[in-house]
Amino acid sequence: MFICQSMNDYQAEQLKSLRMVRRQLKALTDAELAALKAEIEDYLAFRSRVDDFLAAHFKDTCTEKCFSGRLSACCSKDGIIAFFGDVAVNALVSDEADLDRLEWAIQYPARVDKCIFLAQGGCVWRIRPVVCTFFLCDEAENRVFGDNPVAAQWAKLKEIKKHFTWPDKPVLFEWLEAFFIGRGARSPLMYIHFSPGLARIRKNRSMFSS
Ligand code: SF4
Repeated sequence: MFICQSMNDYQAEQLKSLRMVRRQLKALTDAELAALKAEIEDYLAFRSRVDDFLAAHFKDTCTEKCFSGRLSACCSKDGIIAFFGDVAVNALVSDEADLDRLEWAIQYPARVDKCIFLAQGGCVWRIRPVVCTFFLCDEAENRVFGDNPVAAQWAKLKEIKKHFTWPDKPVLFEWLEAFFIGRGARSPLMYIHFSPGLARIRKNRSMFSS
């Protein structure tokens, strides 16, 4: 399989993970694919809630370019941690053309000084990585939240996010990794299973629940 030789490690691991997910999804039966999509429905509903919140409270504050491109405030070079769950969820809601665009962006980033996923028309993810969505720059936070009670709503959304992503209990992002691991796949983005810090959190959970 062709991999652009000039890619750095970050690009290579993103591309490897995306291609692996695409291969695995193509190998599923229609029923298996439908079941997998059903597993992420609650998360998609949550992400939609978060988008509504951001649209209601940050649209005027964030620059038009930032918001209309579905970007977070920064989108700096190699600055995001995309979890394997992000890659899987995005692939499940994307069509082949979307995913081809994503592969292209990884290999041939539009800007050398910015995130590889930032193309001319904005971020190329359909469902942005969760880290990006929950990133608000200090200036935007200070301007919008101040004494505004909506700050409590944002704090609540951040708490709910953990129920999908933080493995101190069984969570969707862990389940998605396990699903693909169970099919013999591995990705460097499977942090919940293979990064020492998150693996320790999972291990502590098992110790306390036994
Ligand atoms: S993935 Fe998208 S939203 Fe996240 S930093 Fe890159 S361009 Fe910005």
